[in-house]
Amino acid sequence: MSELISSSKVVSHMANGQEMSVPIYQFKGSSDAPSVYIQANMHGAEVQGNAVIYQLMEQLRGLDVKGDITLVPLCNPIGSNQKSGEFTLGRFDPITGNNWNRGYHFNEQLPQDFAKQYIDLPFDEIKVKFRAAIINDLETQLLDNPYGLNTAQHLCATLQRMAFEADIVLDLHTGPISERHLYCPEYTKESAVLFDIPHTLFIPSGFDGALDEAAFCPWWQLQLAYQELGRKIDVAVDGFTLELGSQEWLCLEEAKKDSAGILSYLSAKGVVEQGLFEPTEMTRYACYLKDYRALYSPKSGLVEYLAPLGSHVRAGEPLIRLLRMDRYGHDDVIEIIEAPEDCIAILHFASASVNQGTELYKVFTRYFTL
Ligand SMILES: [Zn+2]
Repeated sequence: MSELISSSKVVSHMANGQEMSVPIYQFKGSSDAPSVYIQANMHGAEVQGNAVIYQLMEQLRGLDVKGDITLVPLCNPIGSNQKSGEFTLGRFDPITGNNWNRGYHFNEQLPQDFAKQYIDLPFDEIKVKFRAAIINDLETQLLDNPYGLNTAQHLCATLQRMAFEADIVLDLHTGPISERHLYCPEYTKESAVLFDIPHTLFIPSGFDGALDEAAFCPWWQLQLAYQELGRKIDVAVDGFTLELGSQEWLCLEEAKKDSAGILSYLSAKGVVEQGLFEPTEMTRYACYLKDYRALYSPKSGLVEYLAPLGSHVRAGEPLIRLLRMDRYGHDDVIEIIEAPEDCIAILHFASASVNQGTELYKVFTRYFTL
């Protein structure tokens, strides 16, 4: 049985000075197995990850947890409380428009400088020294920045500081209306089959500001920097974004399935006993990020989403029925938008009324099985 330690951390303040904090739950590992950081709900409407953390903790309390695990549900109290009518907005900072999940820090110079300076250092020492270097860089460049930070950067830096301590980082999100899918870095493709997620996006080594990238980019770039100098090292940290269904939706039963999938990955990594949890047998599909395509609405109107999520749609088959009530009596009162190529429907826009240029569906193209 593992002991659970509860605490909280202040991540922001309201205009009246009151503190906004996040809850933190920690299991202390019984060995030196990899350490784990899991957070949920960075986007305010994406609440299902909190239920997954709940189910994970219910399981972990009865297990011998071998690596340190830190869990941070409700990790963005500003986004969680950003309501309009019956909906939670919470994807963008309402003041700057910044996506909350694009405020993380990455210093691309650091891995190159480090590899040059420590070309012969043993790998175990590289891990300790480089981790200290990226933490120091985060603290000095961001937390001690005389010009300050914007709100998203400040929140992200506080969370990233905790994530930097871990060997495995899982960021739990959902899509708008969405099928489960996983963002998996290309260097660890074999990990994709360890989760119970039927759709995987393989992402390249570039940095776009999200937490998974903030976790693995320094280490992946370090591996590439050593490679350039003629030395082979492993990527010491893994980071994933798990998209677990739709926003504004919570289901504890489905969360139990997702926590089992996460435990199967953690079991394979030795964080809990190996072999205790196994991935579910299923056909898993994947595509590269460049082949993950958004279909934008050619005109405004009212939308019927025809392709069920997860369905395989052939080129020329209908994806969308677009209704224009201002055009009643004309040929274009109803129009069909077809799939431009063979694809799998992964997610669609949450509203049935759209502007021209709204992202209707996101689809896997050129997909393959794992
Ligand atoms: Zn999200």
